Amino acid sequence: MPSFDFDLFVIGGGSGGVRGARVAASLGKKVGIAEEYRYGGTCVIRGCVPKKLFVYASQYSEHFEDAAGFGWTVGESSFDWKKLIEAKDKEIARLEGLYRKGLDNAKAEIFDTRAELVDAHTVKLLKTGQTVTAKTIVIATGGRPNLHTALPGYELCISSNEAFHLKELPKSILIAGGGYIAVEFANIFHGLGVETTLIYRGAEILSRFDHDLRKGLHEAMEEKGIRILCHDIITGVEKVENGLKVRTKNDKPLTVDTVMLALGRTPNTENLGLEAAGVATNEQGAVIVDEYSRTSVSNIYALGDVTDRVQLTPVAIHEAMCFIETVYKNNPTRPDHELIATAVFSQPEIGTVGLTEEDAAKRYPELEVYRAQFRPMKATLSGRSEKMIMKLIVNAADRKVIGAHILGHDAGEMAQLLGVPVKAGCTKDDFDRTMAVHPTASEELVTMYSPSYRIRNGERV
Ligand code: NDP
Repeated sequence: MPSFDFDLFVIGGGSGGVRGARVAASLGKKVGIAEEYRYGGTCVIRGCVPKKLFVYASQYSEHFEDAAGFGWTVGESSFDWKKLIEAKDKEIARLEGLYRKGLDNAKAEIFDTRAELVDAHTVKLLKTGQTVTAKTIVIATGGRPNLHTALPGYELCISSNEAFHLKELPKSILIAGGGYIAVEFANIFHGLGVETTLIYRGAEILSRFDHDLRKGLHEAMEEKGIRILCHDIITGVEKVENGLKVRTKNDKPLTVDTVMLALGRTPNTENLGLEAAGVATNEQGAVIVDEYSRTSVSNIYALGDVTDRVQLTPVAIHEAMCFIETVYKNNPTRPDHELIATAVFSQPEIGTVGLTEEDAAKRYPELEVYRAQFRPMKATLSGRSEKMIMKLIVNAADRKVIGAHILGHDAGEMAQLLGVPVKAGCTKDDFDRTMAVHPTASEELVTMYSPSYRIRNGERV
Protein backbone atom coordinates (compact mmCIF):
# COMPACT_ATOMS: atom_id res chain seq x y z
CA MET A 1 0.00 0.00 0.00
CA PRO A 2 1.48 3.38 -0.94
CA SER A 3 1.44 5.92 1.85
CA PHE A 4 0.08 9.41 1.30
CA ASP A 5 0.53 12.72 3.11
CA PHE A 6 -3.23 13.02 3.46
CA ASP A 7 -6.25 10.72 3.43
CA LEU A 8 -8.16 13.52 1.72
CA PHE A 9 -7.10 16.70 0.01
CA VAL A 10 -9.80 19.20 -0.96
CA ILE A 11 -9.19 21.90 -3.55
CA GLY A 12 -11.57 24.79 -2.92
CA GLY A 13 -12.85 26.21 0.35
CA GLY A 14 -16.48 26.94 -0.54
CA SER A 15 -19.67 25.36 0.75
CA GLY A 16 -19.04 21.88 -0.67
CA GLY A 17 -15.29 21.73 -0.09
CA VAL A 18 -15.34 22.97 3.49
CA ARG A 19 -18.19 20.62 4.45
CA GLY A 20 -16.43 17.61 2.95
CA ALA A 21 -13.09 18.51 4.54
CA ARG A 22 -14.50 19.33 7.96
CA VAL A 23 -16.64 16.21 8.30
CA ALA A 24 -13.90 13.90 6.98
CA ALA A 25 -11.45 15.44 9.47
CA SER A 26 -13.95 15.05 12.31
CA LEU A 27 -14.08 11.35 11.44
CA GLY A 28 -10.37 11.16 12.15
CA LYS A 29 -9.13 11.36 8.57
CA LYS A 30 -5.99 13.35 7.82
CA VAL A 31 -7.34 16.18 5.70
CA GLY A 32 -5.79 19.11 3.85
CA ILE A 33 -7.75 21.87 2.15
CA ALA A 34 -6.53 24.68 -0.10
CA GLU A 35 -8.32 27.89 -1.05
CA GLU A 36 -6.81 30.60 -3.23
CA TYR A 37 -9.15 33.43 -2.24
CA ARG A 38 -11.25 33.36 0.93
CA TYR A 39 -12.79 30.48 2.89
CA GLY A 40 -16.55 30.40 2.52
CA GLY A 41 -16.52 30.49 -1.27
CA THR A 42 -19.05 32.19 -3.52
CA CYS A 43 -22.01 31.76 -1.17
CA VAL A 44 -20.44 33.40 1.86
CA ILE A 45 -17.97 35.80 0.30
CA ARG A 46 -19.69 37.09 -2.86
CA GLY A 47 -22.99 35.36 -3.29
CA CYS A 48 -26.00 34.30 -1.25
CA VAL A 49 -25.02 35.84 2.10
CA PRO A 50 -23.91 39.37 1.13
CA LYS A 51 -26.69 39.38 -1.49
CA LYS A 52 -29.32 38.74 1.18
CA LEU A 53 -27.85 41.50 3.34
CA PHE A 54 -28.16 43.82 0.34
CA VAL A 55 -31.76 42.68 -0.16
CA TYR A 56 -32.58 43.65 3.43
CA ALA A 57 -30.91 47.05 2.93
CA SER A 58 -32.84 47.69 -0.26
CA GLN A 59 -36.22 46.92 1.33
CA TYR A 60 -36.10 49.85 3.74
CA SER A 61 -37.17 52.40 1.13
CA GLU A 62 -40.52 50.61 0.85
CA HIS A 63 -40.74 49.99 4.61
CA PHE A 64 -40.41 53.73 5.23
CA GLU A 65 -43.14 54.50 2.68
CA ASP A 66 -45.45 51.79 4.00
CA ALA A 67 -45.10 53.00 7.58
CA ALA A 68 -47.30 56.03 6.89
CA GLY A 69 -50.34 53.82 6.36
CA PHE A 70 -49.91 52.50 9.89
CA GLY A 71 -49.77 55.92 11.49
CA TRP A 72 -46.03 56.46 11.51
CA THR A 73 -44.32 59.60 10.41
CA VAL A 74 -40.82 58.72 9.36
CA GLY A 75 -38.38 61.59 9.22
CA GLU A 76 -36.23 62.34 6.22
CA SER A 77 -34.20 59.24 5.39
CA SER A 78 -30.95 58.85 3.55
CA PHE A 79 -28.81 55.91 2.54
CA ASP A 80 -25.06 55.51 2.91
CA TRP A 81 -23.63 52.86 0.56
CA LYS A 82 -20.20 52.92 2.20
CA LYS A 83 -21.73 52.15 5.60
CA LEU A 84 -23.59 49.19 4.15
CA ILE A 85 -20.43 47.84 2.50
CA GLU A 86 -18.49 48.26 5.73
CA ALA A 87 -21.12 46.44 7.79
CA LYS A 88 -21.44 43.70 5.18
CA ASP A 89 -17.67 43.22 4.99
CA LYS A 90 -17.48 42.90 8.77
CA GLU A 91 -20.16 40.21 8.81
CA ILE A 92 -18.56 38.32 5.92
CA ALA A 93 -15.18 38.40 7.70
CA ARG A 94 -16.89 36.98 10.81
CA LEU A 95 -18.43 34.15 8.80
CA GLU A 96 -15.17 33.42 7.03
CA GLY A 97 -13.59 33.14 10.47
CA LEU A 98 -16.22 30.59 11.49
CA TYR A 99 -15.52 28.51 8.39
CA ARG A 100 -11.82 28.46 9.21
CA LYS A 101 -12.49 27.73 12.86
CA GLY A 102 -14.70 24.78 11.95
CA LEU A 103 -11.90 23.31 9.85
CA ASP A 104 -9.34 24.06 12.50
CA ASN A 105 -11.40 22.51 15.31
CA ALA A 106 -11.81 19.36 13.23
CA LYS A 107 -8.02 19.36 12.74
CA ALA A 108 -8.03 19.78 8.99
CA GLU A 109 -4.87 21.46 7.72
CA ILE A 110 -5.71 24.78 6.06
CA PHE A 111 -3.66 26.08 3.14
CA ASP A 112 -4.16 29.61 1.84
CA THR A 113 -3.01 29.04 -1.68
CA ARG A 114 -4.09 28.02 -5.12
CA ALA A 115 -3.68 24.28 -5.60
CA GLU A 116 -3.40 22.34 -8.84
CA LEU A 117 -3.34 18.65 -9.65
CA VAL A 118 -0.03 17.17 -10.75
CA ASP A 119 -1.36 13.64 -11.13
CA ALA A 120 -4.19 11.55 -9.70
CA HIS A 121 -2.70 11.58 -6.19
CA THR A 122 -0.50 14.68 -6.15
CA VAL A 123 -1.42 18.31 -5.58
CA LYS A 124 0.90 21.28 -6.00
CA LEU A 125 0.46 24.19 -3.59
CA LEU A 126 1.37 27.22 -5.66
CA LYS A 127 2.31 29.64 -2.90
CA THR A 128 5.21 27.51 -1.72
CA GLY A 129 5.70 25.21 -4.68
CA GLN A 130 5.31 22.29 -2.26
CA THR A 131 3.64 19.11 -3.50
CA VAL A 132 1.51 16.88 -1.30
CA THR A 133 -0.05 13.52 -1.94
CA ALA A 134 -3.49 12.26 -1.00
CA LYS A 135 -5.36 9.00 -1.22
CA THR A 136 -8.57 10.80 -2.19
CA ILE A 137 -8.92 14.21 -3.78
CA VAL A 138 -12.01 16.41 -3.96
CA ILE A 139 -12.31 19.18 -6.53
CA ALA A 140 -14.66 21.85 -5.23
CA THR A 141 -13.43 24.97 -6.97
CA GLY A 142 -16.87 26.35 -7.82
CA GLY A 143 -17.58 28.77 -10.62
CA ARG A 144 -17.31 32.42 -11.54
CA PRO A 145 -19.37 34.91 -13.55
CA ASN A 146 -19.19 34.39 -17.28
CA LEU A 147 -17.43 37.51 -18.59
CA HIS A 148 -18.69 37.24 -22.17
CA THR A 149 -15.39 38.35 -23.58
CA ALA A 150 -16.81 38.34 -27.12
CA LEU A 151 -18.94 41.37 -26.24
CA PRO A 152 -17.25 44.56 -27.39
CA GLY A 153 -16.59 46.58 -24.24
CA TYR A 154 -17.07 43.66 -21.85
CA GLU A 155 -14.10 44.93 -19.83
CA LEU A 156 -16.10 48.06 -18.96
CA CYS A 157 -18.85 45.96 -17.35
CA ILE A 158 -19.04 44.57 -13.84
CA SER A 159 -20.28 41.19 -12.63
CA SER A 160 -21.88 40.26 -9.33
CA ASN A 161 -18.35 39.94 -7.89
CA GLU A 162 -17.70 43.66 -8.29
CA ALA A 163 -21.25 44.63 -7.30
CA PHE A 164 -20.34 43.70 -3.73
CA HIS A 165 -17.45 46.15 -3.65
CA LEU A 166 -18.46 49.16 -5.72
CA LYS A 167 -16.79 52.31 -4.38
CA GLU A 168 -19.87 54.38 -5.11
CA LEU A 169 -23.49 53.50 -5.67
CA PRO A 170 -24.18 54.28 -9.34
CA LYS A 171 -27.02 56.62 -10.29
CA SER A 172 -28.11 54.29 -13.06
CA ILE A 173 -27.42 50.68 -13.96
CA LEU A 174 -28.19 48.32 -16.81
CA ILE A 175 -28.23 44.65 -15.85
CA ALA A 176 -28.01 42.04 -18.58
CA GLY A 177 -29.62 38.65 -18.00
CA GLY A 178 -32.94 37.31 -16.81
CA GLY A 179 -31.83 34.71 -14.26
CA TYR A 180 -31.53 34.65 -10.49
CA ILE A 181 -28.63 37.10 -10.26
CA ALA A 182 -29.92 39.66 -12.75
CA VAL A 183 -33.38 39.77 -11.21
CA GLU A 184 -32.18 39.89 -7.60
CA PHE A 185 -29.69 42.67 -8.28
CA ALA A 186 -32.20 44.68 -10.33
CA ASN A 187 -34.44 44.76 -7.26
CA ILE A 188 -31.54 45.51 -4.91
CA PHE A 189 -30.26 48.46 -6.95
CA HIS A 190 -33.75 49.82 -7.52
CA GLY A 191 -34.55 49.63 -3.80
CA LEU A 192 -31.37 51.57 -3.04
CA GLY A 193 -32.49 54.33 -5.36
CA VAL A 194 -30.59 53.46 -8.54
CA GLU A 195 -32.34 53.96 -11.87
CA THR A 196 -32.43 50.36 -13.03
CA THR A 197 -32.93 48.69 -16.40
CA LEU A 198 -32.90 44.94 -17.03
CA ILE A 199 -32.24 43.57 -20.49
CA TYR A 200 -33.09 39.97 -21.26
CA ARG A 201 -32.91 37.99 -24.51
CA GLY A 202 -36.05 35.88 -23.95
CA ALA A 203 -39.77 36.60 -23.90
CA GLU A 204 -40.02 36.65 -20.10
CA ILE A 205 -37.56 36.80 -17.19
CA LEU A 206 -36.66 33.71 -15.12
CA SER A 207 -37.04 31.15 -17.88
CA ARG A 208 -37.08 28.08 -15.66
CA PHE A 209 -39.89 29.22 -13.35
CA ASP A 210 -43.68 28.92 -13.49
CA HIS A 211 -45.18 31.35 -16.01
CA ASP A 212 -47.59 32.97 -13.55
CA LEU A 213 -44.77 33.90 -11.21
CA ARG A 214 -42.61 35.20 -14.03
CA LYS A 215 -45.38 37.41 -15.33
CA GLY A 216 -46.44 38.51 -11.83
CA LEU A 217 -42.88 39.45 -10.86
CA HIS A 218 -42.27 41.25 -14.15
CA GLU A 219 -45.39 43.37 -13.61
CA ALA A 220 -44.52 44.08 -9.98
CA MET A 221 -40.99 45.14 -10.90
CA GLU A 222 -42.19 47.43 -13.66
CA GLU A 223 -44.76 48.97 -11.38
CA LYS A 224 -41.98 49.85 -8.93
CA GLY A 225 -40.13 51.60 -11.71
CA ILE A 226 -37.66 48.98 -12.93
CA ARG A 227 -37.44 49.08 -16.71
CA ILE A 228 -37.42 45.63 -18.30
CA LEU A 229 -36.43 45.15 -21.94
CA CYS A 230 -37.21 41.65 -23.18
CA HIS A 231 -36.26 40.11 -26.54
CA ASP A 232 -33.11 42.20 -26.55
CA ILE A 233 -29.40 41.80 -25.85
CA ILE A 234 -26.43 44.10 -25.42
CA THR A 235 -24.28 44.24 -28.54
CA GLY A 236 -21.60 46.64 -27.32
CA VAL A 237 -20.53 48.95 -24.53
CA GLU A 238 -18.32 52.01 -24.88
CA LYS A 239 -17.10 54.72 -22.57
CA VAL A 240 -18.54 58.17 -23.20
CA GLU A 241 -18.22 61.41 -21.30
CA ASN A 242 -21.26 60.87 -19.09
CA GLY A 243 -20.99 57.14 -18.48
CA LEU A 244 -21.26 54.00 -20.58
CA LYS A 245 -23.09 53.95 -23.86
CA VAL A 246 -24.77 50.63 -24.53
CA ARG A 247 -25.87 49.41 -27.92
CA THR A 248 -28.55 46.72 -28.14
CA LYS A 249 -29.80 44.35 -30.82
CA ASN A 250 -33.09 46.23 -31.06
CA ASP A 251 -31.16 49.44 -31.50
CA LYS A 252 -32.24 51.03 -28.25
CA PRO A 253 -29.04 52.82 -27.26
CA LEU A 254 -28.89 53.99 -23.67
CA THR A 255 -26.32 55.59 -21.43
CA VAL A 256 -25.84 54.45 -17.86
CA ASP A 257 -23.25 54.73 -15.10
CA THR A 258 -22.74 50.99 -14.71
CA VAL A 259 -23.38 47.86 -16.77
CA MET A 260 -23.60 44.55 -14.95
CA LEU A 261 -23.46 41.23 -16.79
CA ALA A 262 -25.37 38.38 -15.13
CA LEU A 263 -25.34 35.92 -17.99
CA GLY A 264 -24.60 32.68 -16.23
CA ARG A 265 -21.49 31.25 -14.60
CA THR A 266 -18.45 29.27 -15.72
CA PRO A 267 -16.90 26.39 -13.77
CA ASN A 268 -13.41 27.06 -12.37
CA THR A 269 -11.46 24.31 -14.09
CA GLU A 270 -8.81 26.08 -16.16
CA ASN A 271 -5.17 25.30 -15.37
CA LEU A 272 -6.21 23.02 -12.55
CA GLY A 273 -4.13 20.13 -13.84
CA LEU A 274 -7.23 18.12 -14.68
CA GLU A 275 -5.74 16.81 -17.89
CA ALA A 276 -2.54 15.75 -16.15
CA ALA A 277 -4.59 13.81 -13.63
CA GLY A 278 -6.93 12.40 -16.30
CA VAL A 279 -10.10 14.12 -15.03
CA ALA A 280 -12.62 14.58 -17.84
CA THR A 281 -14.63 17.77 -18.36
CA ASN A 282 -17.61 18.57 -20.58
CA GLU A 283 -17.87 21.23 -23.33
CA GLN A 284 -18.57 23.94 -20.76
CA GLY A 285 -15.47 22.94 -18.80
CA ALA A 286 -17.46 21.41 -15.93
CA VAL A 287 -16.03 18.29 -14.28
CA ILE A 288 -17.97 15.21 -15.35
CA VAL A 289 -19.05 13.07 -12.39
CA ASP A 290 -21.04 9.90 -11.92
CA GLU A 291 -24.03 9.60 -9.63
CA TYR A 292 -21.72 9.38 -6.60
CA SER A 293 -19.80 12.57 -7.55
CA ARG A 294 -16.83 10.46 -8.71
CA THR A 295 -14.87 11.84 -11.67
CA SER A 296 -13.33 9.82 -14.51
CA VAL A 297 -10.44 9.12 -12.10
CA SER A 298 -11.56 6.70 -9.40
CA ASN A 299 -9.95 8.44 -6.39
CA ILE A 300 -10.95 11.97 -7.43
CA TYR A 301 -14.40 13.39 -6.65
CA ALA A 302 -15.98 16.73 -7.55
CA LEU A 303 -18.66 18.64 -5.68
CA GLY A 304 -20.78 21.74 -6.21
CA ASP A 305 -20.72 24.31 -9.01
CA VAL A 306 -17.56 22.92 -10.64
CA THR A 307 -19.74 20.03 -11.80
CA ASP A 308 -22.62 20.51 -14.20
CA ARG A 309 -25.46 19.82 -11.77
CA VAL A 310 -27.56 22.26 -9.78
CA GLN A 311 -25.75 25.48 -8.82
CA LEU A 312 -27.07 25.97 -5.30
CA THR A 313 -25.26 26.06 -1.95
CA PRO A 314 -27.43 23.48 -0.17
CA VAL A 315 -26.93 21.14 -3.13
CA ALA A 316 -23.12 21.38 -2.84
CA ILE A 317 -23.37 20.69 0.90
CA HIS A 318 -25.67 17.73 0.28
CA GLU A 319 -23.25 16.36 -2.34
CA ALA A 320 -20.44 16.68 0.22
CA MET A 321 -22.42 14.75 2.83
CA CYS A 322 -23.17 12.01 0.28
CA PHE A 323 -19.45 11.88 -0.55
CA ILE A 324 -18.68 11.34 3.15
CA GLU A 325 -21.25 8.54 3.39
CA THR A 326 -19.95 6.88 0.24
CA VAL A 327 -16.21 7.15 0.87
CA TYR A 328 -15.85 7.15 4.66
CA LYS A 329 -18.93 5.39 6.00
CA ASN A 330 -19.14 2.47 3.63
CA ASN A 331 -22.63 3.56 2.69
CA PRO A 332 -22.75 4.44 -1.04
CA THR A 333 -25.14 7.40 -1.23
CA ARG A 334 -26.23 9.21 -4.36
CA PRO A 335 -27.05 12.91 -4.07
CA ASP A 336 -30.78 13.40 -4.59
CA HIS A 337 -31.38 16.27 -7.01
CA GLU A 338 -35.15 15.77 -7.24
CA LEU A 339 -37.59 18.36 -5.90
CA ILE A 340 -35.20 21.03 -4.73
CA ALA A 341 -37.00 23.96 -3.13
CA THR A 342 -35.51 27.28 -4.16
CA ALA A 343 -36.09 31.00 -3.83
CA VAL A 344 -35.36 34.07 -5.88
CA PHE A 345 -34.81 37.00 -3.53
CA SER A 346 -36.54 39.44 -5.80
CA GLN A 347 -39.03 41.94 -4.43
CA PRO A 348 -41.60 40.37 -4.25
CA GLU A 349 -39.85 37.07 -3.60
CA ILE A 350 -40.33 33.83 -5.46
CA GLY A 351 -40.43 30.54 -3.58
CA THR A 352 -40.91 27.32 -5.45
CA VAL A 353 -40.61 23.56 -5.29
CA GLY A 354 -41.39 20.89 -7.85
CA LEU A 355 -42.69 21.11 -11.38
CA THR A 356 -43.89 24.25 -13.11
CA GLU A 357 -47.33 24.04 -14.71
CA GLU A 358 -45.66 23.82 -18.12
CA ASP A 359 -43.33 20.95 -17.20
CA ALA A 360 -46.04 19.08 -15.31
CA ALA A 361 -48.34 19.35 -18.34
CA LYS A 362 -45.69 17.66 -20.48
CA ARG A 363 -45.31 14.83 -17.99
CA TYR A 364 -48.84 14.04 -16.79
CA PRO A 365 -52.08 13.61 -18.79
CA GLU A 366 -54.27 15.50 -16.32
CA LEU A 367 -53.50 18.20 -13.81
CA GLU A 368 -55.52 20.19 -11.34
CA VAL A 369 -54.21 23.72 -10.93
CA TYR A 370 -55.11 25.61 -7.77
CA ARG A 371 -54.33 29.28 -8.05
CA ALA A 372 -54.96 32.22 -5.77
CA GLN A 373 -54.04 35.82 -6.40
CA PHE A 374 -54.76 38.31 -3.65
CA ARG A 375 -53.67 41.49 -1.97
CA PRO A 376 -51.68 40.67 1.18
CA MET A 377 -53.13 42.07 4.42
CA LYS A 378 -50.25 44.48 5.01
CA ALA A 379 -50.96 46.16 1.68
CA THR A 380 -54.48 47.13 2.77
CA LEU A 381 -53.14 49.83 5.10
CA SER A 382 -49.83 50.52 3.42
CA GLY A 383 -51.75 51.19 0.24
CA ARG A 384 -49.08 49.44 -1.80
CA SER A 385 -50.53 47.85 -4.88
CA GLU A 386 -49.04 44.39 -4.71
CA LYS A 387 -50.44 40.97 -5.36
CA MET A 388 -49.48 37.64 -3.95
CA ILE A 389 -49.75 34.54 -6.14
CA MET A 390 -49.95 30.98 -4.80
CA LYS A 391 -50.23 27.96 -6.99
CA LEU A 392 -50.43 24.25 -6.38
CA ILE A 393 -50.03 21.81 -9.26
CA VAL A 394 -51.70 18.49 -8.56
CA ASN A 395 -51.45 15.27 -10.57
CA ALA A 396 -55.12 14.34 -11.01
CA ALA A 397 -54.37 10.62 -11.20
CA ASP A 398 -53.03 10.24 -7.66
CA ARG A 399 -53.77 13.72 -6.21
CA LYS A 400 -50.10 14.26 -5.37
CA VAL A 401 -48.96 17.88 -5.13
CA ILE A 402 -46.15 17.95 -7.67
CA GLY A 403 -45.46 21.67 -7.73
CA ALA A 404 -45.95 24.61 -5.38
CA HIS A 405 -45.18 28.17 -6.46
CA ILE A 406 -45.41 31.40 -4.53
CA LEU A 407 -44.81 35.05 -5.38
CA GLY A 408 -44.89 37.45 -2.47
CA HIS A 409 -43.36 38.37 0.87
CA ASP A 410 -41.49 35.54 2.58
CA ALA A 411 -42.06 33.17 -0.34
CA GLY A 412 -38.55 31.78 0.24
CA GLU A 413 -39.38 30.87 3.84
CA MET A 414 -42.61 29.21 2.68
CA ALA A 415 -40.81 27.28 -0.06
CA GLN A 416 -38.54 25.70 2.53
CA LEU A 417 -41.54 24.41 4.50
CA LEU A 418 -43.45 23.36 1.40
CA GLY A 419 -40.39 21.40 0.34
CA VAL A 420 -41.16 18.84 3.06
CA PRO A 421 -44.75 17.81 2.09
CA VAL A 422 -43.94 17.93 -1.62
CA LYS A 423 -40.83 15.78 -1.11
CA ALA A 424 -42.82 13.45 1.12
CA GLY A 425 -45.36 12.98 -1.69
CA CYS A 426 -48.32 14.54 0.15
CA THR A 427 -51.60 14.74 -1.71
CA LYS A 428 -53.94 17.66 -2.10
CA ASP A 429 -56.19 15.90 0.42
CA ASP A 430 -53.36 16.13 2.99
CA PHE A 431 -53.20 19.86 2.34
CA ASP A 432 -57.01 20.11 2.68
CA ARG A 433 -56.95 18.24 6.00
CA THR A 434 -54.42 20.70 7.41
CA MET A 435 -55.85 23.46 9.58
CA ALA A 436 -55.08 26.99 8.44
CA VAL A 437 -52.94 29.37 10.48
CA HIS A 438 -54.93 32.58 10.59
CA PRO A 439 -54.36 35.34 9.60
CA THR A 440 -51.42 34.52 7.39
CA ALA A 441 -50.84 34.66 3.68
CA SER A 442 -49.77 31.03 3.58
CA GLU A 443 -53.16 29.80 4.85
CA GLU A 444 -54.21 30.17 1.24
CA LEU A 445 -52.16 27.02 0.55
CA VAL A 446 -54.57 24.89 2.58
CA THR A 447 -57.81 26.65 1.70
CA MET A 448 -57.94 26.38 -2.08
CA TYR A 449 -60.69 23.77 -2.23
CA SER A 450 -61.57 23.53 -5.89
CA PRO A 451 -59.25 23.66 -8.86
CA SER A 452 -59.02 26.99 -10.67
CA TYR A 453 -58.66 25.01 -13.89
CA ARG A 454 -57.48 21.70 -15.24
CA ILE A 455 -54.91 20.80 -17.86
CA ARG A 456 -55.80 17.78 -19.95
CA ASN A 457 -53.26 16.44 -22.44
CA GLY A 458 -51.48 19.76 -22.36
CA GLU A 459 -54.62 21.85 -22.95
CA ARG A 460 -56.24 24.09 -20.37
CA VAL A 461 -59.89 23.06 -19.84
P1 NDP B 1 -29.00 31.83 -14.56
O1 NDP B 1 -28.73 30.59 -15.27
O2 NDP B 1 -30.07 31.88 -13.52
O3 NDP B 1 -29.32 32.99 -15.59
C1 NDP B 1 -28.49 33.30 -16.66
C2 NDP B 1 -29.24 34.28 -17.52
O4 NDP B 1 -28.38 34.74 -18.54
C3 NDP B 1 -30.46 33.67 -18.17
O5 NDP B 1 -31.48 34.63 -18.17
C4 NDP B 1 -29.96 33.38 -19.58
O6 NDP B 1 -30.99 33.43 -20.53
C5 NDP B 1 -29.02 34.55 -19.79
N1 NDP B 1 -27.98 34.28 -20.78
C6 NDP B 1 -27.08 33.28 -20.77
N2 NDP B 1 -26.24 33.39 -21.83
C7 NDP B 1 -26.62 34.49 -22.50
C8 NDP B 1 -26.16 35.12 -23.67
N3 NDP B 1 -25.13 34.64 -24.36
N4 NDP B 1 -26.79 36.24 -24.08
C9 NDP B 1 -27.83 36.74 -23.41
N5 NDP B 1 -28.32 36.17 -22.29
C10 NDP B 1 -27.72 35.06 -21.84
O7 NDP B 1 -27.60 32.29 -13.99
P2 NDP B 1 -27.16 33.39 -12.98
O8 NDP B 1 -25.84 33.85 -13.46
O9 NDP B 1 -28.23 34.38 -12.71
O10 NDP B 1 -26.96 32.53 -11.65
C11 NDP B 1 -26.11 31.39 -11.66
C12 NDP B 1 -26.64 30.33 -10.77
O11 NDP B 1 -26.42 30.70 -9.43
C13 NDP B 1 -28.14 30.11 -10.88
O12 NDP B 1 -28.46 29.16 -11.86
C14 NDP B 1 -28.52 29.65 -9.51
O13 NDP B 1 -28.50 28.26 -9.49
C15 NDP B 1 -27.46 30.24 -8.61
N6 NDP B 1 -28.03 31.37 -7.83
C16 NDP B 1 -28.98 31.08 -6.92
C17 NDP B 1 -29.55 32.09 -6.19
C18 NDP B 1 -30.61 31.76 -5.20
O14 NDP B 1 -30.71 30.60 -4.80
N7 NDP B 1 -31.44 32.70 -4.79
C19 NDP B 1 -29.15 33.47 -6.35
C20 NDP B 1 -28.15 33.66 -7.36
C21 NDP B 1 -27.62 32.63 -8.08
P3 NDP B 1 -31.97 32.17 -20.82
O15 NDP B 1 -32.86 32.07 -19.64
O16 NDP B 1 -32.68 32.58 -22.06
O17 NDP B 1 -31.08 30.99 -21.01
